[in-house]
Amino acid sequence: MINYQGILNSISADCSLSKDRGKVATYIPELAKTDSSKFGIHLVDSNKNNFQAGDSETVFSIQSISKVLSLAQAMGLIGETLWTRLDVEPSGDPFNHLSLLELENGIPRNPLINAGAIVIADILVSNLKNPKSDFLQFVRNLAGDDDIDFNREVAASEKRTGFRNYAAANLLKSYGNLKNDVETVLDFYFHQCAIEMNCSQLTKAFYLFMNRGKCQKDKTYLTLRQVKRINALMLTCGFYDEAGEFAFEVGLPGKSGVGGGIVALLPEKFCVATWSPGLNTKGNSKLGMEALEQLTTATAQSIF
Ligand code: GLN
Repeated sequence: MINYQGILNSISADCSLSKDRGKVATYIPELAKTDSSKFGIHLVDSNKNNFQAGDSETVFSIQSISKVLSLAQAMGLIGETLWTRLDVEPSGDPFNHLSLLELENGIPRNPLINAGAIVIADILVSNLKNPKSDFLQFVRNLAGDDDIDFNREVAASEKRTGFRNYAAANLLKSYGNLKNDVETVLDFYFHQCAIEMNCSQLTKAFYLFMNRGKCQKDKTYLTLRQVKRINALMLTCGFYDEAGEFAFEVGLPGKSGVGGGIVALLPEKFCVATWSPGLNTKGNSKLGMEALEQLTTATAQSIF
């Protein structure tokens, strides 16, 4: 038996001493208010045993972590036709870069960079009756927790300063790869990113990716093939131009967000979430990455 609790306690103790915690994202003004001294970690294993340390019950903005959940809902709704509008290759570029999108005629490299997630948002806007509330309910169902909600101030704050996302959406629209209007799609996208969760809720929402498509309550949401694909995308694209580094240091499929959260999982073994708001220069949580490197080293468990 692995002593997960002992390992999480030691990771959390190390992180609390860390002087270099990275920088909190400020390009979404509302996120700049986050306290950079926070650190939380939560792990759930395949027997549904829970282990946690630090600020694991404090909610934060999940931001790009939401892209995996919107992709899961879109795959469930329209299946393979999705891949006519998106590719599945790592971009090697930061999350908000646009040059490849123009070079490649409006087909985003993958669904986990902003342009790709905006195409997924467009698909959900087209296919859901009440897009924002239906997506929120999907996330609540996955996590088995109806307290999960949007932070509307964060969504409004990003709407005021999300110039690059407006650029991406307009470029997509010019190539005919956005069916709905730019405002509607971005309103949905800014809200999905502004969902708040804590580390414990995140491990529940991502449990199905570790558990062959079945959530904690044993309901099946995705086929095995869909789970394989989403996990492959998290491994190759989940950390943008640092996906290689994350695989190199941590060795798990995962996804980060500029709110400082990271979720990662080892299929059929565990799902883990960390939160530390300070980011490294690639926009991924600095201590979160270090913590997960320690976790896979201490437990000697990774996909490799
Ligand atoms: N909402 C953010 C954006 O679009 C999400 C980015 C992220 O978390 N990497 O810029």
